[in-house]
Amino acid sequence: MLYSRPVVPASFKSVALVEEKMNIVVLRENAPGEARVALMPDSVKKIVALKVSVVVESGAGLGAARTDDDYREAGAEISCDRNALLAAADVLVTVNRPSDEVFAALKKVAVVLGFLRPLDEPQALEPALAGGLTTFAMELVPRITRAQAMDALSSMATVAGYKAVILGASQIPRMFPLLMTAAGTVPPARVLILGAGVAGLQAIATARRLGAVVEGYDVRAAAGEQVRSLGATFLEVDLGGLKTEDAGGYAVELSEEAMQRGRDLIAEHAKTADVVITTAQVPGRKAPLLVTEEAVNGMKRGSVIIDLAGATGGNCVLSKADETVERNGVTILAPTNLPATVPVHASQLYSRNVTAFLGLLIKDGELNIDMNDDVVGPSCVTHQGQVVNQRVAAALSTVA
Ligand code: NAD
Repeated sequence: MLYSRPVVPASFKSVALVEEKMNIVVLRENAPGEARVALMPDSVKKIVALKVSVVVESGAGLGAARTDDDYREAGAEISCDRNALLAAADVLVTVNRPSDEVFAALKKVAVVLGFLRPLDEPQALEPALAGGLTTFAMELVPRITRAQAMDALSSMATVAGYKAVILGASQIPRMFPLLMTAAGTVPPARVLILGAGVAGLQAIATARRLGAVVEGYDVRAAAGEQVRSLGATFLEVDLGGLKTEDAGGYAVELSEEAMQRGRDLIAEHAKTADVVITTAQVPGRKAPLLVTEEAVNGMKRGSVIIDLAGATGGNCVLSKADETVERNGVTILAPTNLPATVPVHASQLYSRNVTAFLGLLIKDGELNIDMNDDVVGPSCVTHQGQVVNQRVAAALSTVA
């Protein structure tokens, strides 16, 4: 049974050569539109202090405004030879999941750390499995206090929530703040934010700073207090005491009746909104449908929907990932990688998250992976030719 839970040794050490330092490798990301880099020079300084080498592919930092010289000054080596870099990598640190070719070029004891999309595209990790690689997904880092410095999902959601508002503000044919001028009063824009998790709360805070009147909606009652504390109105729907969140604080999938009550409330409030930003997700599932065709048809001409759930199917029925859709003067955008459009700060936050995680894997200049560690173990996807994460194993069995 390939995907049953294997017995994993509590710890193992890399077979790093005694006279050579362990290599942490950073490649130039080559996904379309990707401008982030996995490690920024500031983090390189911290990592070389762990008595390991950092080798960076030439040009890797340019999208995030960092040159090869910036990396050299921080203590990294620069290489133009991608194949040699891969062959020498003990740990490959990436933003996006590496290609099949990159996985195939790594040595068997190599470790890969990045956003690997293990739950929504588990089959894409087959090459890593076949290669016997040890892979860690930043998406699986548990949201426990000890792992807060490694919470890359929150980092990227923060950037995406901010940028969604900026995008919305630049799209609509009006201003955000209330202005009282000699030529009359300009009313503030109205912004409706669906899903008040990390991205949604950052969107609320940003829209409020720009002077908009903001409403927020979430199925988790706990989100209400946070929405109100940011100066927005919380839209409440009577779900009849239904359980809406799991023990980890995440939303659970709701019944169709409960979902419909939410959609009706949203449709009512979307009528007066200039910008609707949707951020609702249920981990490991298709994004919940919150904005129906009727709701879009009821919106004002010139208004805009920014759907941040586009990568998992979208919260608006009309959204098309990374495309612009027009419906009766309403513009619907579903950008799937907004963090890449703020590459300096997105890379800086991600790089710090990754560096904190590396701190758990490296001891005395060598790999020392403790699968019993409550952050390391749950974040591991594949190890020694087996899927070691039960959620990923379950996701794989459903797609097989
Ligand atoms: P997420 O990206 O999975 O979902 C975004 C939001 O969508 C959530 O607030 C969720 O409740 C909401 N949602 C889901 N289904 C919905 C529906 N049908 N209608 C309306 N809203 C819906 O979540 P996230 O932003 O990653 O965070 C989720 C939770 O985890 C929050 O409680 C957050 O505060 C918590 N969190 C904790 C830590 C930590 O303790 N270290 C870190 C980050 C987040």
